[in-house]
Amino acid sequence: MSSRGDLFIVSAPSGSGKTSVSTSTLAQLDGLCFSVSYTTRPPREGERDGVDYYFVTNEKFQEMTDSGRLLEWALVYGHNYGTSREFVEQQLAQGWDVLLDIDVQGARSVRRELPESHLIFVLPPSFKTLQSRLESRRLDDRETIFSRLQNARSEMLAFSKYDYLILNEDIEEAVSELKSIICAVRCKRYRRTELAQEVLASFEENT
Ligand code: 5GP
Repeated sequence: MSSRGDLFIVSAPSGSGKTSVSTSTLAQLDGLCFSVSYTTRPPREGERDGVDYYFVTNEKFQEMTDSGRLLEWALVYGHNYGTSREFVEQQLAQGWDVLLDIDVQGARSVRRELPESHLIFVLPPSFKTLQSRLESRRLDDRETIFSRLQNARSEMLAFSKYDYLILNEDIEEAVSELKSIICAVRCKRYRRTELAQEVLASFEENT
């Protein structure tokens, strides 16, 4: 991989299925890696440190924000979440495309710092679907579900700041749309200039 990679930011109201869409896309596309976030939220059952998140204390998180080690960070449902600046920078420099699964506040911050990043918003089909998805996944208590639904509307309003909108009614279709967005960016001229020059050089050798 030679040229610099691109940064893809996926956001959605919680329960929209963006994590499943992102996970399937990551499994199906080469050259795309996931940036594991840091969080002060306690792990849920089955979550693994270093895979789903880096689970850290408030002190450690504070230290990271103070020393500028986070590209962005936000308080979401009472817990801090942040993205490692070093990881993202290193991967992009090595030519990897990087996918961030972060909230709308974080996306806004990254866009300010790295305006060339690609912002993708996953829409749930409707409020009712969101509600039943949140209830059936049994990850949160009633109070948290209520607060997630309250937040969902204001998170939805952020869609107008995003470059791409994916409707997650059918997971396969949503994954296919996300893959298509990434593939289209990979075909952009700035990503293919070296390739074009190589092809051109072959003409010069033979004419
Ligand atoms: P959960 O606790 O359900 O895994 O995530 C809650 C919310 O935090 C989701 O919207 C998720 O995208 C967001 N989130 C996860 N990691 C980060 C991060 O590093 N930065 C920001 N700003 N939000 C994050």
